[in-house]
Amino acid sequence: MDDILAPRFIDPVAARKHLEALRWPNGAECPHCNLIDATPLKGKAHREGVYQCNKCREQFTVTVGTVFEKSKIPLNKWLLANHLLCASKKGMSAAQIQRMLGVTYKTAWFMMHRIREAMKPTDPAPLGGPGKVIESDEAFVGGFKKKRLSGKVAPKKKIVTLVERGGAARSFHITHVDHTNIRAVLVTSAHRSSVLMTDDARFYNSIGREFAAHGTTIHSNREFSRGNGHHSNTAENFFSILKRGVVGTYHHWSETHIHRYLAEFDFRYSTKDMSDRERADISLKGIGGKRLTYRRTDKLAA
Ligand SMILES: [Zn+2]
Repeated sequence: MDDILAPRFIDPVAARKHLEALRWPNGAECPHCNLIDATPLKGKAHREGVYQCNKCREQFTVTVGTVFEKSKIPLNKWLLANHLLCASKKGMSAAQIQRMLGVTYKTAWFMMHRIREAMKPTDPAPLGGPGKVIESDEAFVGGFKKKRLSGKVAPKKKIVTLVERGGAARSFHITHVDHTNIRAVLVTSAHRSSVLMTDDARFYNSIGREFAAHGTTIHSNREFSRGNGHHSNTAENFFSILKRGVVGTYHHWSETHIHRYLAEFDFRYSTKDMSDRERADISLKGIGGKRLTYRRTDKLAA
C-alpha cells in the first residue's frame, strides 16, 4: 500500500486526468464513433472533463461506456477502491472499503463488483500453446454449514481453475466435477497444443488425449514431483490464496456473483509479478467495453 496519499486518490480532477491518460493515450476518444477528434468544453456551463466530438457532436466524459458510468461517487474514490482491491492479496471486504472510503456499505459493495468486472479479461484468448504447461485442478470453496439462527445451509462451490505455468489463471464455477463440465472448460480455455498436467481423476484420461501430452500426479497421496515436473503445485498455490480469501475476507460467495470473485482472484494471480500501481492501472484500462454485458446479466443495486 505504497501511495494511497497520491493526488489521484484524493483529488477528483487528478483522478480524471490519470484515467484519461490511461484510456486515451492519443487524445479523447468519442465512445459513439470511436474517433479521436474532440474539443474540451470549457466555461461555467460545463462540468470539467466534458468533451464534444467534432464529428457526431455528442458530448462525453472519460467514464461514458464504462463500469464507472453514471456513478455519483467521485473518481478519486473509485481509483482508491480499485487500488486497494488490486493490492490486497486476499481481497478486501465491502465493510472495509466502506470504512476506508467513507461511503455506505451498499455503495462499497456495488463499487467492488464493478471493479471486479473491470478485472475480467476483455477478450480472453485460450491459455497455453506449444511448449506451455497448463495445470487443471478443482477445489470446493465458500459454503457454510447450518447457521444457528436462520438454519440456512450453503453448499461449497465447485471451482475448476486452469493455470498456465509462469502465466495466467482462469477459474470457473461448475455444477458438478465431471468429464462433461471439465472438458467444456478445457476445450474453450486451453490451447490443445499445450501439455496438460492434472491429478489422477479418471475423467482426465480421455480429455488428456486431446492435448499435446498429459501428465498426472497422484493427488490423494500428495505425491507431487514424480520427476520431470509432474505436479500441480501451481494450481495448488492458486487455491491456497483463493481459500484464504474466502475464509478470511469474503466468508461466503453467492451463486449470482461467484464469477466476479473468481475474476478478481484470477486477475491478481495473473498479474502477480507486477507492482501494485501497474496492476491497478491494468484494471482501470479494463473499465471500458463491459457495461453492456453487465447490464444484461445483473440486477445490482446502484
Ligand atoms: Zn462521435
